[in-house]
Parts: sequence; C-alpha cells; structure tokens
Amino acid sequence: MRTALGVDIGGTALKLGLVSENGKLLAKRNEPSEVADGPAAAVDRIEHTARGLLVQVGARRESLVGVGVGCPGPMKYSEGQMYDAANLPRWTDAPLRSMLAEQAGLPVVVENDANMATWGELWLGAGRGMRDIVLLTLGTGVGSGVIVDGELLRGHFENGGELGHCIVVPGGRLCNCGQRGCIEAYSSASRVAADAEQAARVTPGSLLAERLRAGEEIDSKVVEGCAREGDATALRVWTEACQHLATAIVNIQHAFNPQRVILGGGMSHAGEFLLDAVRTAFESLTWKLAPDQPEIVCAELGNDAGMIGAAGRIFRHVSGAR
Ligand SMILES: [Zn+2]
Repeated sequence: MRTALGVDIGGTALKLGLVSENGKLLAKRNEPSEVADGPAAAVDRIEHTARGLLVQVGARRESLVGVGVGCPGPMKYSEGQMYDAANLPRWTDAPLRSMLAEQAGLPVVVENDANMATWGELWLGAGRGMRDIVLLTLGTGVGSGVIVDGELLRGHFENGGELGHCIVVPGGRLCNCGQRGCIEAYSSASRVAADAEQAARVTPGSLLAERLRAGEEIDSKVVEGCAREGDATALRVWTEACQHLATAIVNIQHAFNPQRVILGGGMSHAGEFLLDAVRTAFESLTWKLAPDQPEIVCAELGNDAGMIGAAGRIFRHVSGAR
C-alpha cells in the first residue's frame, strides 16, 4: 500500500492526514500550528507527526510517497514558496517546499489551501468523476479553486482562480485585499456575521437583536438560525449575501463553464437553506441563451478537504503529472 501525507496549514491548526492511494483517510491528527514559531518549527512538527501516523496505522516509512501541503495566501507555486499570508506573519517568503523536502527526503508539493481543497472535492468529494468544477469556500474569507479540463487553473502569474476577489459591486466595500467590492467583502461567513450584527443594532425588535442582547456572539450560524425562524432582518442579510454570491457565480459560469460550482466553508453547513437562496438568485441573473448553467451544490469533505486534496496532489505529482 502506498500512502501520502496531506497537510493543511492554518492560522490556528496544522491538520495532517495519512491517505492511501485509493483515497482512504487512514489516520489524521490536528496539531496546534503555533505559527508564531515560524516555518522551521512547523516542518519539524510535520515530520514528527508523520512518523506517529505511520506507526499508528502500521505502515512502513517506505510506503510514504511524499507530502502535499496546503497554505493560506497566494503562492509562488513553481518555487514552492509563500508570499505573505496575513495570519502567518513569520512565514513571509518561506521556501516551504525545499525546507520540507530536505527534512523528509521525499517529494513535496506546496499549493494554496483552497486549491488543495478543490482538488480534494474533485478526487473524493462533490466533484468526483468531473473535469470542470469551481469551489468557493465561504469562511473567514472567500477561498476558491478552479479545475478546468481536469487540472487546476494556475495562469501566467500562478495566481489564477482567486475568485474571492472578483468584483461584484464596482466601487463597493473595501476588501481585506485592498480592492473594493470583492465577493469576499459581501459573502464570507464573517462579513455575513458583521452585517447581521450591524443590522441588529438598528432593528431592536428583531430576533437578531434579541440574541445580541442575550450576549450571544453573532456568527453566520446564528444568522442562518434566525433567518430560518423567519426573522426579517436576518433573512435580508442572508439573502443579500446569497445574491452577491449568485452574481459571482454567473461570472464564473461565463469564464469557466464548470459542471458544478461547489460551496464549502462555514456557511455551507446551512445546506439546502443556502443552496435554495443562491440557486433562486442565480436563476434570475443568468442568461437564457444556452443551457450551460452549472449545478450549485455543497462541498462534501468538510474540514478534511484541504488535507485530502494535498495528499491527492502528491500522488498525482509522483505519478508523473505536472
Ligand atoms: Zn478582495
């Protein structure tokens, strides 16, 4: 049995999974990422945890074909190097691939975390058996990955498929990236929560305001819950986020013509409640000239998508694909 280690580096946790070639997650572990210690400490931790996982499943070290790593922020893919990730301050320009390859003595692939999650959904999740999909993760920000004709879209500057920064409102809200009007500034789980909190303050009679007064922290799940209960304020915030998302999906439809647009991240826990709102808005916005509307569905792999996709990418890499 050949195995691969998939690693998903986040601001708070380092997720590691040992995956078999046929896509079975053999064992996984969450470690505190302790990002403040910098990349060298993380590389040590990855190596150490990998040994532990191999022992745990009774696999030999020789079964491990390589390590795939998903990192936040834009990447210089061909160099296996990070640029600047907002929540990993000591990691700027870290040559992660060469550091890990040297330590592990194995092939290493490093990729943006949303790209890895997209690959995971393609391999074993909501995009199984397809060749053209787009993943949008609605979390703290809006991450994304694009698969065209069976391969990750990278582009000349290796930074393609960053759809969270598609502009849906010209001159609109300032986004964390410095642009105005990005989809991330309207439809991320954290923006939905912030919008709801703001709306609750001016509608004291709303259910949302009641929750706020009770000392609850308003997150996207609370907004969803209040909207489901028919609270008009929560429903308006939720629907507006879905409408902006649908606008982005029309643009995605015309740019890539995907078979599926897959929604992941925190907001996707709402399931059909999210899909209904997005599909309704999408239907009203998309053209009727051709029957090329993508199916809009929720992701299937949850928080494991990035880790599983990272393992899948290294299997692909050692099989000789680019
Ligand atoms: Zn942006």
